[in-house]
Amino acid sequence: ITPPPTVLHAFRDAVQRVPDRTALAYFDGRLSYREADRLSDGVAGHLAVRGFARGDRLAVVLQNTPQFVVAVLGAWKAGGTVVPVNPMYKEREVAHVLADAEVTALVCADHAWETFLRPTAAASPVGIVVTTSEHDLQTRGDERVLRGPRLPRPDDTDDLLDVARRGTEPPADRELGPEDVALISYTSGTSGAPKGAVNTHGNIAYNAERQRTGLALPDGSTLFALAPLFHITGMVCELSACIAGGGTLALAYRFDAGTVLDAFREHRPAYTVGPSTAFMALMAHPEVTRDHFTSFRTISSGGAPLPPALVEKFRSRFGPYIHNGYGLTECTAPCASVPPGRQAPVDPASGALSVGLPGADTIVRIVDADGAEVPFGEHGEIAVRGPMVVPGYWRRPEDSAAAIPEGELRTGDIGFMDEDGWLYVVDRKKDMINASGFKVWPREVEDVLYGHPAVREAAVVGVPDTYRGESVKAYVSLRPDAGATPAELVAHCREQLAAYKYPREVEILPELPKTTSGKILRRELRSRA
Ligand code: ATP
Repeated sequence: ITPPPTVLHAFRDAVQRVPDRTALAYFDGRLSYREADRLSDGVAGHLAVRGFARGDRLAVVLQNTPQFVVAVLGAWKAGGTVVPVNPMYKEREVAHVLADAEVTALVCADHAWETFLRPTAAASPVGIVVTTSEHDLQTRGDERVLRGPRLPRPDDTDDLLDVARRGTEPPADRELGPEDVALISYTSGTSGAPKGAVNTHGNIAYNAERQRTGLALPDGSTLFALAPLFHITGMVCELSACIAGGGTLALAYRFDAGTVLDAFREHRPAYTVGPSTAFMALMAHPEVTRDHFTSFRTISSGGAPLPPALVEKFRSRFGPYIHNGYGLTECTAPCASVPPGRQAPVDPASGALSVGLPGADTIVRIVDADGAEVPFGEHGEIAVRGPMVVPGYWRRPEDSAAAIPEGELRTGDIGFMDEDGWLYVVDRKKDMINASGFKVWPREVEDVLYGHPAVREAAVVGVPDTYRGESVKAYVSLRPDAGATPAELVAHCREQLAAYKYPREVEILPELPKTTSGKILRRELRSRA
């Protein structure tokens, strides 16, 4: 794999080759490569005039919108580093990120500025603020997408589209290379307060190119952004891979099953990637049909466990096979995936679906606590080395040295590898349940629950138990058209799992709590329990 030095190089190449091709499709709005280039030039020029220097940090607090992409390209053209911030973060969380990354410029929606970002930014070194109206972001009056009021434009900020269209020349001396920092991505990692993983341009360009070549889609294909762009999966597997292939990225603000299904009809994407929970929600939608998926050549799931039963249910109802992929923020999205045309094996002992094969140039080892490799088939921590592994966390040398000793990332995930090199993720080290001294991995129990036809979502946690230390408890949500009692679900698990593993208690909830990137929040369920 020979990636360009940065994704910006790939973008400029696409502007040269296919200037009139649609780069971004958003509801009924379209932006060509030439237009995206011009608008991001304007943003870069504005930032430079306002004193934004090479290496400065610009936070982008937006959902999946064309403005997100224009702001990111603009920041890179100005030689800066982007700090994506989840727009659903609360004041305290945003304040931590702005201060930790020493952000000096901010792009956000006008209502977010008015409601909570203004005081947060005032307490930090942010000096350049560009806002955008969420009503401008949205080109069709879709109630499901946007309910906020139209606000008068904040007069203490500049408007993104005004700035972009003003066409101030971008600075000429800010050329970036693979060693430059493209993103600081905040992640809780295995412990503690969120830390900024430093994704270099080289990390991103490599993984985007790997994704592009691995998918083998025709040049100019349409990709649908199901994962949020503020998360590394969206940034790399959707946006950057799309640019690398000179394709069209279709966006739909944020995940809403009905809106996404409409967008599939409208944009006819060839590819999408999202967390498994997004596919569960699409499957549960009352209007979903096979026709929604006929344009897809391939689909992947990443960033969260993919139950094998879901892959089967999805394929039998809609046609496409969902490819599993494994990664984390610290390896700039995937480091293992299932090559198209192949199918991931299922481990006969645990029933787990493999997350794929390590990519080219990637070395995955399964190690014990001392970092020594364990034999094939044995459990250990997954350790990754390769061109997508971040050099470290932003200004945290000790955390970096602990997580990435000598350039090898310790993922905090327990896994194993079979003799053919297929990788399996057992679970997160920290989520292990200790029931009477027996190790129970929630994933294995969840996979069994997903095999029940009525189960839509499942999460298993350990709850304090005076007799066993911890006991196994499951939370599930059910498909809207199906029913099951807790006792039936306990019996279903008891048939397939050893006595110490099956959940003693199953609680049914209307929906399970999730992160904004779509992962089920076991820690919230643990505190609930
Ligand atoms: P946050 O930073 O928001 O707390 P996080 O810790 O989940 O989120 P990410 O980098 O987004 O951080 O997620 C990476 C983790 O997701 C991996 O360490 C692994 O536990 C899990 N994961 C990713 N892909 C898979 C997969 N295919 N199967 C099982 N687990 C996966």
